Amino acid sequence: MWETAGTAEKSNGSMTAEMQITKTAQSRLDQVDLENPGFGVVFSDHMFEINYNDGEWQAPVVGPYRALEIAPAISTLHYGQAVFEGMKAFYNEDALRVFRPEAHHKRFNVSCQRMCIPETDYATFINGIETLLSLDKEWVPKAKGQALYIRPFIFATDNYLAVQVSETYKFLIITSPVGAYYKEGINPVSLTTSEEYVRTVRGGVGTVKTLGNYAASMLPAQKAKNQGFTQVLWLDAVERKYIEEVGTMNIFFKINGTLVTPPLEGTILPGVTRDSVIQIAKDWDVPVEERKISIDEVLRRSKDGELEEVFGTGTAAVISPVGTIRHRDTTISINGDEIGPFAKRLYDEITGIQYGARPDRYGWIHTVQPERW
Ligand code: PMP
Repeated sequence: MWETAGTAEKSNGSMTAEMQITKTAQSRLDQVDLENPGFGVVFSDHMFEINYNDGEWQAPVVGPYRALEIAPAISTLHYGQAVFEGMKAFYNEDALRVFRPEAHHKRFNVSCQRMCIPETDYATFINGIETLLSLDKEWVPKAKGQALYIRPFIFATDNYLAVQVSETYKFLIITSPVGAYYKEGINPVSLTTSEEYVRTVRGGVGTVKTLGNYAASMLPAQKAKNQGFTQVLWLDAVERKYIEEVGTMNIFFKINGTLVTPPLEGTILPGVTRDSVIQIAKDWDVPVEERKISIDEVLRRSKDGELEEVFGTGTAAVISPVGTIRHRDTTISINGDEIGPFAKRLYDEITGIQYGARPDRYGWIHTVQPERW
């Protein structure tokens, strides 16, 4: 089924049946230090592209990664009508493994709905990813902790300065070899609440992956960093009391043997890793509570010796232990600023599934076996 040049018969999904593939004349792989790829700084040779016009998605094209020519007035640049996703493919000698692409695609469409962007179908989405992985298989870093990050995104391209729904879009997928997201790696990060800023409110766009959420988070994140913290621990925008999530992670607290995480009630991103952690924990007979948890409760549980572990979850960092939390003038240290046994066990289980070292009990892995390995 794999072709690396010419036209490939691909999905018979509703978007389109044919994909035009043009291979790069000159790979850039020899310019890249794949052993130390950083995070999202280098991009593989090829990209996937579909345009939306005349009320439908047109034929997909895969070609060399390149700069785009865009008109200065396109609405994305002015009003941010755009969405994105982020997932990873992992290397193993037998295959490449994409972690939960269906769940990511589902969320991609939810984001599209909220931002008035036409949805995409799964067959086209996964065929695009498979084609890129097949062409750029050598770009997938091989060491544990490394992966090929896959970034699908759609943006409005109407060349028109009125605030209105665009009638044209571009859907691209690019990929990037990545290592650890935080410089801390699997070592604990430090978080601070913010008195000044909030991330979102119910009815806003905090539950979807759209640009403005991230743009708005940069100043608070920068201030947190200047104060020596890795990220902001967001509190709810109404009462400024309940914990929501972190920059690009959901958050979990292990309290007296129970895993507690804020509920999906219209302000936080429904993380795919969050969902995976909940399923695994339940299978391990660890009680899970999706409930409101206030910062005051966290401080109190810590004081009473009941707060065993805190960790963030997300595609980029997988499981990221939290060693320090500051709220106003109180700072707590969690588990002696060390990764806790439960976070470690989860990290080993999830990365074990991702790299193919542990059984895929949940059907989360989409394997890709390029013919010419
Ligand atoms: N919250 C936010 C705001 C994020 O951007 C992300 C990363 N997508 C997450 C949580 C974690 O989501 P996931 O586990 O699907 O990567």
